[in-house]
Amino acid sequence: MPDPCEVLPTADGPRRPAAGAHDVLLSADRVILGGSGAVVPRGAVLVRDGAIVWTGPLDRLPPELGGDRAREGCDAADGGRSERVGHCGHAGCVEHVRLPGASLLPGLIEGHTHLALDAGPDPMGALARRLGAGEYEGVLALMRANAARMAASGITTARDLGAPAHLEHILRQEIDDGRSPGPHLVGSGIPLTTPGGHCAVMGGACDSDEAVADLVRRNRGQGAQWMKIMVTGGFLTAASSPFHSQFSAQRLRYAVRAAHDAGLMVAAHAHGTQGIVRAVEAGVDSVEHGTWMTPDGFRVDRDTVALMAERQVALSTTVNHRARGATGRLPWEQRLEQLQVMRAAGVSLVVSTDSGIGGTPHDSLSRALDLYRDLGLSALEVIETATGGTANALGLGGVTGRIAPGLRADLVAVPGDPRTDLALLHRPLLVMVAGRTVRTA
Ligand SMILES: [Zn+2]
Ligand SMILES: [Zn+2]
Repeated sequence: MPDPCEVLPTADGPRRPAAGAHDVLLSADRVILGGSGAVVPRGAVLVRDGAIVWTGPLDRLPPELGGDRAREGCDAADGGRSERVGHCGHAGCVEHVRLPGASLLPGLIEGHTHLALDAGPDPMGALARRLGAGEYEGVLALMRANAARMAASGITTARDLGAPAHLEHILRQEIDDGRSPGPHLVGSGIPLTTPGGHCAVMGGACDSDEAVADLVRRNRGQGAQWMKIMVTGGFLTAASSPFHSQFSAQRLRYAVRAAHDAGLMVAAHAHGTQGIVRAVEAGVDSVEHGTWMTPDGFRVDRDTVALMAERQVALSTTVNHRARGATGRLPWEQRLEQLQVMRAAGVSLVVSTDSGIGGTPHDSLSRALDLYRDLGLSALEVIETATGGTANALGLGGVTGRIAPGLRADLVAVPGDPRTDLALLHRPLLVMVAGRTVRTA
């Protein structure tokens, strides 16, 4: 007897599942909603067409949403005995994924990544060599692999802050269409820099307002939602200074205005205090790194911190899993103090790792989360900062970051209660991006 739950071909092509047939109900010992501190015991989440349509205690799922059948499973398939019923195509059927012992929570958000970098000893050099040899397909293949690792590790949204040739736009479409596994991508396209400046290898060197306007237009045309400006130099580009602004204050203001006029938000790469001050004054939306370095030590500018809080300029932490042991250029104690000063002043944190740089692979965000405990946060507060908090700071709070009806179904299940053990996030049982399951244990 043929499996009644297979999608059978007919004369008109494959039988289309009836409306609602793709509903998936996930139930677990607890649902951590994110953003609010609320946790629902024996909770469930109903997913339809990539979005969350309902969440609450499992025994309260309304009948009109398939309540009884969802709880019992699809009887057409196997009499309702199975723990897990596949997409069956029957009108009114709900696939019920039971996750005993587990917690469901919003997927993690990586606030700063570079999919085109390989996390090896010389990521920028490796990228330059590939681009020099015209290996764009090779770079795209690397980005695909990195995106897949990210999603498998529980990251369901990622902001890519610098990739060459609009490749992340191609990948974003593949991911959104379900052709490649990966987190939902928010991209910045080609980063703006100066000739010979930080990350000029990615193709965004500009030395006039006209060139800046053209780069903004090209990025916007390729689906970018952010504009990345390399306000200061970086440590990965030998000829640039991480301490000082690469741009005049006038050029920076021009670039920020051009990006905002095009509907893009602006992320400023800025290490040095002088560069951070200039970026915030120019009106950027997020400061990346923000390490308050000067040629002779650290100097947190309190007026600028106050201005960041007032203008809701987020601070993207770029703290990786190795940071706690750091003693070199940026000792952890120093970094912790900076983060505490900014948080206390009301600056929102974007949780990020700058993955792709040496030693920071794309699936390492969950391993960095424990470091935020050093700020005095509970494990639940860390989870909320890395999900709803980061979504809000990136302007995505109405789209993802929490488990609530109407938001994208970006979900992670972990085996146990991460409120008592953040390390559970290292091995998710299930990851769902926009309703698509990208990992099952
Ligand atoms: Zn069925
Ligand atoms: Zn970066």
